[in-house]
Amino acid sequence: MQWQRAARKAQAEGRPLPDLPDLAPLSINLDLTTACNYACDHCIDWDILNSKVRHEDQELRDSLQRMAERGLRSVILIGGGEPTLYPGFAAIVEFCKGLGLSVAVVSNGSRGDRLLAAAPFFTEGDWIRLSLDSGSNEVFRRMHNPSSRTLSLDEICSWMPRIKAANPAVQLGFSYVITWKGGSRGDVKIVENIHEMVMAAKRASDAQFDYISFKPFLERQQDGAEVMDPAKSEAELQAVIARIQQNLAEARVVVRPGFRVLASTNLRVLMAGTWRDYTRQPKVCHMQMLRQVVTPLGTFNCPAHRGVEKAQLGGKELWQVPAAAQHATARLLQGFDASHECREVTCLYNSTNWWLEELVEADAPLPQAAPADEQRDWFL
Ligand code: SF4
Repeated sequence: MQWQRAARKAQAEGRPLPDLPDLAPLSINLDLTTACNYACDHCIDWDILNSKVRHEDQELRDSLQRMAERGLRSVILIGGGEPTLYPGFAAIVEFCKGLGLSVAVVSNGSRGDRLLAAAPFFTEGDWIRLSLDSGSNEVFRRMHNPSSRTLSLDEICSWMPRIKAANPAVQLGFSYVITWKGGSRGDVKIVENIHEMVMAAKRASDAQFDYISFKPFLERQQDGAEVMDPAKSEAELQAVIARIQQNLAEARVVVRPGFRVLASTNLRVLMAGTWRDYTRQPKVCHMQMLRQVVTPLGTFNCPAHRGVEKAQLGGKELWQVPAAAQHATARLLQGFDASHECREVTCLYNSTNWWLEELVEADAPLPQAAPADEQRDWFL
C-alpha cells in the first residue's frame, strides 16, 4: 500500500517509479505440469493442456526458496494439468513443507498412490481437494474421459480412508462443478450432473472426505478470461438455481454429522443474483502482488488469466531472480487494467481489491499493524 501511494505520487509528478519492496506474493498457485490424463468436457484450461513445456525441478525449487525467503506462505498445487503426474510430486510437497509453507493440492484423484505418498508431509490446515463432479461411476467417466479404461469413482474414493489413516491432519475435499444443459465449451456439449449432487454428497461423506464443495460451471471466453455467464445457458436460469438449492438442501440431510456441504462463493453469488456486482473491478488489481500463478508456460498474475499473454509476468523461472519478478509485478500493477480485462470475471477478490484501493486512495496514514487477529489461513 505504501508503495502504491508512492508510485501514484511519482507518476503524477513525472518521476520514475520507486522499486517494489523486496517481497514475494503471500500465496501462489503452482501448476506442476500441463500434462493431464483426463479429457474433461468442462475443462477451462483445455487450450493449455499437454503442452511440451515443463519445469526444471532444481529451477523450480530455487524459485520456491527465494519466494519463501521473501514472505511466501502458501502453495496450491493445482491445474492447468494434473499435479500428481509431475514425477517428483511427493518430493515437491516435502520440499515446500520443509520451507515452512502451507500446502494444498487440487487433483483429479487418478493417482491415489501419489497422494498417499505425499500424505505424511502435510500439517494442520493443509488440504487435498479432488475434482470429481459426479455421484456415479457412469457420469464420472462420461464427464472426465480418463485415459485409463478402468478408472472409476469407486476406486478414487477408496484411497481416502488410507490417506486419512496416514495423516488425519490433512483435510479432504470433494469438489463438484455443477453442470446443466446448455453449458458449452466451443461446440462440445457438456454432460449434465446437476441430478447427482445428493448422491455425490452421500458418497463423499461415506468415503471419509471432510466436505463437499459445489460450484457453478465457468467458461473461458475468447480473450482467455475465465468467466461465469449462466445467461448463456439454454435452460432458464431461475429454474436451474431452484434445482441447485433443492439439491443442496437434500444433500445436507444425507451426510454424516460433522461433514460439511459447502456452496462456493461463485455459487452463493449466483444464487443470490448478485454475481454481476463482482465483475466491476478497480483499475488496479492489488491481488497481483499477493497471489500469483507459476506454470510451466510462465508466471501469471491471476488464476482467471492462466496462460493469457497480457496477464503474464514472465517465464516459469521468473522468481529465480526476485528483483526481476518484483519489477515485472510493478509493471503489471501499473499496466494491467483490471476494470477492463476482468470486466466479465466474477472475481472472488473483488471486495478485497476495492478495500485495498480505498486504503491506497485515502489520505489517512496507513496502519503499521494488521487490522485483525492472525487467522493462520494463508491460501489465497
Ligand atoms: S481483478 Fe480479480 S480476476 Fe482480475 S486479475 Fe485481479 S484477482 Fe484476477
